[in-house]
Amino acid sequence: MQREETPVDTSITVGHAVLELVQGDITAQPDLDAIVNAANAQLTTGGGVAGAIHRAAGPQLARAGRALAPIRPGEVVVTDAFNLPNRRVLHALGPVYGQDEPSDVLLASCYRRALELAADEELASVGFPAISTGVFGFPLRPAAEVALRTVRDALRQPTSLRLVRFVLFSPDDLRVHAEVLAELERSEP
Ligand code: ADP
Repeated sequence: MQREETPVDTSITVGHAVLELVQGDITAQPDLDAIVNAANAQLTTGGGVAGAIHRAAGPQLARAGRALAPIRPGEVVVTDAFNLPNRRVLHALGPVYGQDEPSDVLLASCYRRALELAADEELASVGFPAISTGVFGFPLRPAAEVALRTVRDALRQPTSLRLVRFVLFSPDDLRVHAEVLAELERSEP
């Protein structure tokens, strides 16, 4: 039987860093210095990726968040990672699609600020989930375009970062990100 292969690019080099796409669970990335949480404004646990991160980090994470909340769409704050195997959690509040505008600018700010804060702390590696594409309703493909373009642009500037990993939850999320990355590499080399 012929299997149709989607051309996928799951790892590219940008500047001095590797940008890679994997399917997996963001709470199980022990080799990363920091992971990014798709947070809510109050930095409380909630569902989706935030729920998984808070469960894995333990109740201290919500306590640490309390001192920093509320945050605005596009904003990112840093806490310790507590029981997670990482050093830091970067809490990004993505835009609620159709409500927080301009949604693409606010989503780009999440990725850019997270990378800036990671570099401020001299971190070498950071992992992102697909911010705003769950409960917040941002359509996956345009969200992936914003995310990957913003990270590519940021890694072209001087930075301590050597690895940025997108940890996509489903095979379909990975496939869409891989297609978007390949397209960006073609159209904006
Ligand atoms: P938002 O409120 O920003 O939309 P969600 O947590 O609802 O955030 O979803 C963001 C993305 O994270 C979705 O693509 C969802 O499938 C994904 N996700 C959920 N749990 C995990 C996890 N443990 N690791 C990585 N991604 C996850």
